[in-house]
Amino acid sequence: MGRVYTFTCPRCEYQARVSGATETGFHCVTQTVSCRDCRALHDVTVRLRVAETTEAAPPKSAKKLPAPDAFRPPLLLFGQPRRTRWLELKPLCPVSPSHRIEVWTAPGKCPRCGMFLDRDVMPYRIWD
Ligand SMILES: [Zn+2]
Ligand SMILES: [Zn+2]
Repeated sequence: MGRVYTFTCPRCEYQARVSGATETGFHCVTQTVSCRDCRALHDVTVRLRVAETTEAAPPKSAKKLPAPDAFRPPLLLFGQPRRTRWLELKPLCPVSPSHRIEVWTAPGKCPRCGMFLDRDVMPYRIWD
């Protein structure tokens, strides 16, 4: 379950809608980061749950072996537990991967002026 809050800067009125923490959903984990280049906060995905079958890319040097399972359709039956795994992602600014970001956790400072941001009491949005 993830929660998104509205954070407002009391000095420069910068506003961001982010979780302010690491949030774990069913399919992904997000982390709030502060981008020094955008001077803004972003929620970025740091872990993604993917189907196990997407892992099967062999190294380029590997010999091609006959794969009897290659034509088996992926298991998509409801009620069947699908094998999944977590893919670790490097947190990157969604605007540009070359931006300098750092992990930001509430209570935290405004990316524009350095004041501590106020967080709304109620979540702005809840996702799962
Ligand atoms: Zn500010
Ligand atoms: Zn950025």
